[in-house]
Amino acid sequence: MSATEHSSAVTITSLPSTPSVLSQLWPFLALLSLALALPLSGNDYWALIATRAAIYWVLVSGLNLIVGFAGQLAIGYVALLAIGAYTSSVLAAGNVLPPVPAFLALGAAGVVGAVFGVVVGLPALRLRTFYFAMTTLGFATIVTQIALAWQDVTGGGIGIAGPQLPAPLNTAWGFYFFCLAVAAVCTWITGNIARSRFGRALVAVRDAEVAAEASGISKPRLLVAVFILAGALSAIAGGLFASLQSYITPDAFTFDLSLLFFIAVLIGGRGSILGPLLGTIVLTLLPELAAPLAAWSTFLYAALLLVIVLAIPGGIAALLDVRSRRPLPDKRAILPKLAALEALIGRPKVSGVLSLRGVVLSFGGVRAIDGLDLDVRPAEVHGLIGPNGSGKTTTLNVISGFYTPDEGTVTLGQEALPAGVPESRIRRGIARTYQTPRLIGEASVLQNVMVGATVDGRASFLEALLSLPRHRRDEALMEKRAELALAAVGLGALAHVRADRLQHSELRFMEIARALMAHPAFLLLDEPAAGLSTGEIKRLGELVRAISRQGTGVLLVEHHADLIFDICDQVTVLNLGRILAGGTPAEIRVHREVVSAYLGS
Ligand code: ADP
Ligand code: MG
Repeated sequence: MSATEHSSAVTITSLPSTPSVLSQLWPFLALLSLALALPLSGNDYWALIATRAAIYWVLVSGLNLIVGFAGQLAIGYVALLAIGAYTSSVLAAGNVLPPVPAFLALGAAGVVGAVFGVVVGLPALRLRTFYFAMTTLGFATIVTQIALAWQDVTGGGIGIAGPQLPAPLNTAWGFYFFCLAVAAVCTWITGNIARSRFGRALVAVRDAEVAAEASGISKPRLLVAVFILAGALSAIAGGLFASLQSYITPDAFTFDLSLLFFIAVLIGGRGSILGPLLGTIVLTLLPELAAPLAAWSTFLYAALLLVIVLAIPGGIAALLDVRSRRPLPDKRAILPKLAALEALIGRPKVSGVLSLRGVVLSFGGVRAIDGLDLDVRPAEVHGLIGPNGSGKTTTLNVISGFYTPDEGTVTLGQEALPAGVPESRIRRGIARTYQTPRLIGEASVLQNVMVGATVDGRASFLEALLSLPRHRRDEALMEKRAELALAAVGLGALAHVRADRLQHSELRFMEIARALMAHPAFLLLDEPAAGLSTGEIKRLGELVRAISRQGTGVLLVEHHADLIFDICDQVTVLNLGRILAGGTPAEIRVHREVVSAYLGS
């Protein structure tokens, strides 16, 4: 902490600090204690209900990563429950192969579920949310129809016996403890994913897809991993469900049940584990507590959903998030700590010039860029200015791979940068910010910044799932770097605040911190000074200069002429997609056409 930060210590003390492990764990421990004490009730009926809740949670815990974290509307997940139930029952009954033991049948169901999880999920990579929702529903209908028609194997409408676990797991309470253990493991592993770079990437894909791509996150690979996990968990839940029912027919897998799983996530709250867990418990209990209303359950769920969406859009999780309701001090200064940049950026790995040659890009009849040549050199600040609509943002989008130019090339050193693959840029050391900040509103500032280092992670999805040492090292490293990046841009005190509570100017600095996580060789800034106060613009200028001193080349799109002339080494002026002028600030300042067309007076 620098001396200047201490001077505002009065305000800083009221800002949220690192949430302690215990404060995050205690609700889960309390629920587990309650669950363990349940047999004291001595009531077998409770065993049945609680077992059902545990089984539903096994499914919902996986679905939560898809719906709550990745924001995909998968509403037909009862299909995977059915697939798991039938796979394990058919294998245990020996309808196709010699009968296998119940545990083996459950494991096999998990494998089959993983495969079908991907099959059901694949459309999400191409279809818009609503159409994806429809495909999952369609799949659910197909599965029940097949179960009904394929009589020799599934028993058709007459049904089939579920797998029976060996003693002592074959009693009501024995089976309950087994399901509780599976549910606890699911809570742990999905919680591990949620707190990993994969969990952050899922939420980034949901809330800030463009920033996720520019941070090197590959949506298809990420979603496939989660579909495999959710499919496997859902099918294992299906096997347990078949055991609990002891006998299954296709009409056990109703639309109501599918709706229950989906709504449990929604009323629980997006991006939370505890919320959907409580949601699942509430929705399982609800029809039991109001038994006469059981026939109305679809109606009840729908009504409950409406109430939640209207009254508490963030669901149970938002209701429990007391930290984010405490007011933040409204006088807080952004005080960058430039000394932190050295440790943060180091010496950028990639050297060479970032060059555009003859780039042309039209949108319909509009030539947004019209034959642009541009060279951005390491350790230089290169200003790109021009009136609105002159093609500045489009230029950044071409460099960062979002747009494919009609003509021309973009090269870094000797290497041509492929068009249309924004995920490839971060590994080549190109990071950027956006004209409209791209943030994950519900995540903390620290987590938003950590997204910028996603590609630095070494641990695989499986290692993160089990919280193995390499994953924990990744996390500790990323968190430390993110703290350093936040200190560097002057937001250290806000690390644990939800990003959607920041002021606009703070978001602009947060985006720079996220970009700096990648040790960028080139940093593209799109109007970073828009909406900043005079003092903030001055500190932004010092920050950008200090970044370039580390060897990073900065391409700065700006409207504030003073900032441009103060800190740039080179300036390019665009007009209608063409270069109007190029040179040092001193040359541009007196360039006759620039002055008359753009700078005025
Ligand atoms: P600037 O950032 O300099 O204000 P832009 O690069 O955003 O300008 O836009 C340049 C021109 O290209 C404008 O005429 C704009 O309307 C057009 N344009 C930019 N992006 C798109 C797009 N995705 N689709 C159609 N037209 C676009
Ligand atoms: Mg723009």
